[in-house]
Amino acid sequence: MIPYGKQAINQADIDAVVEVLQSDYLTQGPKVPAFERAVAGYCGVEYAIAVNSATSALHMACLALGLGKGDWLWTSPNTFVASANCARYCGASVDFVDIDPRTYNLCADQLEAKLIQAKADNKLPKIVIPVHFAGQSCDMKRIHQLSQIYGFKIIEDASHAIGGRYLNQPIGACQFSDISVFSFHPVKIITTAEGGLATTNQPELAEKMQLLRSHGVTREAHLMDQPLEGPWYYQQVDLGFNYRMTELQAALGVSQMTRLEAFVARRHQLAQQYSERLADLPFVLPYQHSDTHSSLHLFPILLPVNLDRGQAFNALREKGLGVNVHYIPVHTQPYYRQLGFKPGVFPQAEAYYQRAISIPLHQGLTDSQQDYVVECLAQLVKEG
Ligand SMILES: *Cc1c(COP(=O)(O)O)cnc(C)c1O
Repeated sequence: MIPYGKQAINQADIDAVVEVLQSDYLTQGPKVPAFERAVAGYCGVEYAIAVNSATSALHMACLALGLGKGDWLWTSPNTFVASANCARYCGASVDFVDIDPRTYNLCADQLEAKLIQAKADNKLPKIVIPVHFAGQSCDMKRIHQLSQIYGFKIIEDASHAIGGRYLNQPIGACQFSDISVFSFHPVKIITTAEGGLATTNQPELAEKMQLLRSHGVTREAHLMDQPLEGPWYYQQVDLGFNYRMTELQAALGVSQMTRLEAFVARRHQLAQQYSERLADLPFVLPYQHSDTHSSLHLFPILLPVNLDRGQAFNALREKGLGVNVHYIPVHTQPYYRQLGFKPGVFPQAEAYYQRAISIPLHQGLTDSQQDYVVECLAQLVKEG
């Protein structure tokens, strides 16, 4: 099976993990801070807080921004469920903003229209989570302008997007947001097996997230409410979690970071080849906005209306292509229907979903594997 996405592990990665196994620290040692420095340096951001998943990072980002019961969080329906679930963990309500039919990202025009209505209804969101779908940045400048007018905070769900750029700044720089979140699940751009990370330029948010990832416990005197009782002393000053990343994961992350640029470059080369070789077939290929340089996590194509998506999907799987669909609109999931959402309310995301298939794109994909993918797609069209 040629998967739609896959990790690329080399001997240096393996050596880095083995070295940690033979060291004194399997957790809470020097590798997590080293990984955080590597990502912060790459992104040009002040603070990086590594955790055990992007889901955890989204949760603590919401808490750090004060999200709670009675608040609203808005995100895109075209995302993985974690982008919305983080609000529910905090007891807040979720709503969605439909997507731009070209970029498949949360649409800034629709956001503005919804904000105008929400203001009239006194239901403005506390947080908006734009999701950089497939690695392409949302229209952050506009979304940031709207946040200034309507007073919401911004968490970028950049799970797909490490190594991407927006207006020539690395995604994760938080130029137009409060916090950005990356995922290092094996299908993403770089991996730590499981893992995630939050970036911010705001020291209070960084401090709060550092507390939340480790039980709300601190050993720093300036964060304590009572005098230090001795060198053994720690205080729990908040209700936190165990969301820590291990040293093994962080060492793998440090090693992967050295190849991030090469991974993204190879993805661009493959995407360029797809664009050339699929140009004469009746698929809609991913549109790239000129403000963005995508990390190209995914390569979603839209099938022509005369091809049945279910049949096409099965035919490609039978030929050994690990195609997938990104994403089932979150509001149509049973959990969200239970909360009152019905199909039909976000028509752009739903129309996109009906025709989308993600074809293989990852740094380990060889040219001959790509030839085979193109051949399978051509055959699909021919056989109708
Ligand atoms: C993968 C993903 C997540 C969750 O990441 P984990 O690290 O698996 O928790 C969240 N949001 C989006 C958009 C994702 O693709």
